[in-house]
Amino acid sequence: TSFEEVQLTEIIRNNISLARYDTPTPVQKYAIPIIVGKRDVMACAQTGSGKTAAFLVPILNQMYENGPPIITHGRSRRKQYPLGLVLAPTRELATQIYDESKKFAYRSRVRPCVVYGGAHIGDQMRDLDRGCHLLVATPGRLLDMIDRGRIGLDYCRYLVLDEADRMLDMGFELQIRRIVEKETMPKTGERQTLMFSATFPGPIQMLARDFLDNYIFLAV
Ligand code: AMP
Repeated sequence: TSFEEVQLTEIIRNNISLARYDTPTPVQKYAIPIIVGKRDVMACAQTGSGKTAAFLVPILNQMYENGPPIITHGRSRRKQYPLGLVLAPTRELATQIYDESKKFAYRSRVRPCVVYGGAHIGDQMRDLDRGCHLLVATPGRLLDMIDRGRIGLDYCRYLVLDEADRMLDMGFELQIRRIVEKETMPKTGERQTLMFSATFPGPIQMLARDFLDNYIFLAV
């Protein structure tokens, strides 16, 4: 199997080659065509399975296919409206996802950003001001950015919850719900939602039921 089995735009195919990803991992092999097919997905996959590229590749592919990203900032340029949002439990994971997104967004018009707690918020705000089409964030810092009027979720068409079980273990459920259930966030069905989790216990099943629309369940 290869990445050529799914129709991906040239820019993403080039960036997959540049990253030297020759063969898709199992989660990539199964998830990418489903996500390109615009379905919601609940995937049980461990760290190291290649799950990051499994959601970044199809999301960025769709952003490229939709043509040059529309304006994502408000009038003042001080508020950004990302088209894609990835929620992650920790600064380390958020940074890893961001690094991976830069590989796949290389030489494209899509600008990824990352925000997390425990770091200077001013630097992160200045980076957002340069444009943000894909935002990787930890829940608390994202809420802070939303409350400060720096991020609007109104145009968020792709939503990913990565390591959802870890986010719940860390006590982020209320914050996640505050984000996903914001009035401005496109509703289930108007956005594509993907959840990744190593385990699938009751509380994760509840989140999947509440956030996903007619989803495909994938266990690799
Ligand atoms: P992840 O599970 O997404 O954290 O990925 C684990 C590691 O595998 C990361 O260092 C990725 O860069 C790498 N990786 C992911 N997919 C592939 C692939 N198809 N070929 C080679 N390396 C990969």
